[in-house]
Amino acid sequence: MLVGIDLGTTNSAVALWKDGAPQLVPNALGKELTPSAVSLAKGGQAWVGQAALDRMATHPADTVTSFKRMIGTATTVTLAGTTLTPEDLSAMVLRSLADDVEAATGERPTQAVITVPAYFNERQRRATRRAGEIAGLEVKRLINEPTAAALAFGLTDRGDREPFLVFDLGGGTFDVSIVEMFDGIVEVRASAGDNRLGGDDFDAALVKLVEPLLDNRTVLDTLPADRRRALLNLAAERTRRALSTAEEAEFSIVVEGEPLTARVSSDAFEEAAASLVKRLRDPVIRALRDCHIDVKSLSDIVLVGGATRMPVVRKALTRMFGRFPNATVHPDHAVALGAAIQAGLLSGGAGLEEIRITDVAPFTLGVGTATRDAHGRFHDDIFAPIIERNTPVPVSRMERFQTLADNQRQVTFAIYQGEARDVKKNVKLGELTVPVPPRPAGEVAVDVRFTYDTSGLLDVDVSVPVSGTTRNLVIVDEEDRRTQKDVAESRKRLEKLKVHPRDEAENVAMLARAERAYEGFTGTARDIIGQALTEFQGALEKQDPRIIADAREGLGRLLDEIDAHSPL
Ligand code: ADP
Ligand code: MG
Repeated sequence: MLVGIDLGTTNSAVALWKDGAPQLVPNALGKELTPSAVSLAKGGQAWVGQAALDRMATHPADTVTSFKRMIGTATTVTLAGTTLTPEDLSAMVLRSLADDVEAATGERPTQAVITVPAYFNERQRRATRRAGEIAGLEVKRLINEPTAAALAFGLTDRGDREPFLVFDLGGGTFDVSIVEMFDGIVEVRASAGDNRLGGDDFDAALVKLVEPLLDNRTVLDTLPADRRRALLNLAAERTRRALSTAEEAEFSIVVEGEPLTARVSSDAFEEAAASLVKRLRDPVIRALRDCHIDVKSLSDIVLVGGATRMPVVRKALTRMFGRFPNATVHPDHAVALGAAIQAGLLSGGAGLEEIRITDVAPFTLGVGTATRDAHGRFHDDIFAPIIERNTPVPVSRMERFQTLADNQRQVTFAIYQGEARDVKKNVKLGELTVPVPPRPAGEVAVDVRFTYDTSGLLDVDVSVPVSGTTRNLVIVDEEDRRTQKDVAESRKRLEKLKVHPRDEAENVAMLARAERAYEGFTGTARDIIGQALTEFQGALEKQDPRIIADAREGLGRLLDEIDAHSPL
């Protein structure tokens, strides 16, 4: 079975193509969004999703979120003594989504379409694909998140020829795409973005704003740095959400029994977030410029991503575009639904015969070269683009280069992704060396062919016509060898972890939530939560599903009530 997955920085979701429509699959808690969070304990106990997120407040050192921001880098995370890569962590989320699909359909998915930010580079894409493999999913296609959102939007609103803009602001990344649809073809005309901008950054801005306003804040200094950060960020996120529907909200945390609170107005937050809001402009302008489309000819502004719910963002958009954004697609579901549409397309799903997608390369790809100036001096490390950004993919392009020195014996091409003329400012993807016959400078030609596939992955071929020598797939070969080993090692690492079984997910999540609440309150509220927690644990020991379910519901109601009365 082929499923569509939105593997988000903050939240992930899975959907299927079923009965002629994309359908989201709920998790064990009945929710369509699963927080991209993992928490471990000594002995290899593991939590994924909401329960893990709730453990962030109580066990910050053993819990991790936003690991998508690390994917494609060598960074690792050590939780409760176990070291995991960002791919391992992503694989744990993917596995939990696959479990949900299996629970819903009785069939284990073996293949997936996974979405990535349009701005993800080659390394990040390969790492995402690897995460799928670790989770036991063959990744049939990586698709850009805005493209997926456009598909979901397009399916409800077909037949429009005018270009529209997809504006996706999630927890950690920001993507802009200009999309056109006609005769069943969805064409992404341009993509731009900032993979270091999202709701997390607005949380940080809010923390910066309120921290000096908290009374008794010296008590904060008694906390270990990670716990302090976790508490402040979690509280900031809650306050920020509250500010989406109110003019004023309370920021509040409890430290060592000491309540720390501050009131925040939406105006103050808007001011604190001004520099972030400003950064939303650049990618919009860049995308429009790249496809030579005027802002006035955009038919719609489609909002995607939870952070577009912030009024400060909507206001900025309305100012930027001179009109109100479109809200017909569900900002939380569009990407996963689009991935499921792509899955349907790949498996020949009924009702999709007439849709095709063309996407564009998000970055310029090229090689580093040297040239000789008029005085005969060498200048090296100059970027020579081969595939320019926003070229429709799949694409294959060739450039011819000449030797620079007399009797040169080999030519080395370093392959880069980026926009800077100085290659050192771009991302190096690999290197490839080809032998050439010794001749005077400039007499041997070397052809470099770049082929970019629909998942945004690159193949490089180098050939020397005069000798017939060719070199190809060198980056991929090296990486694949390492990767095979990595995947096997990761699987072994993850096998040792004892992820809570899916049928206990609701109990596990309730325990984590109650523990978070217990730590967050003092006095009577804390006593009440403590008692209820003891009762719930007692019910769990009885192992009678009816008793457990009743106790869980009771505890849930109590926590809802406490949450409603005093913002934690
Ligand atoms: P990602 O694609 O990065 O996984 P999502 O699209 O799920 O992220 O968006 C998550 C972000 O949306 C978080 O930063 C969250 O705080 C924010 N968010 C969700 N709902 C709201 C809301 N009602 N008001 C403000 N922010 C919200
Ligand atoms: Mg997203």
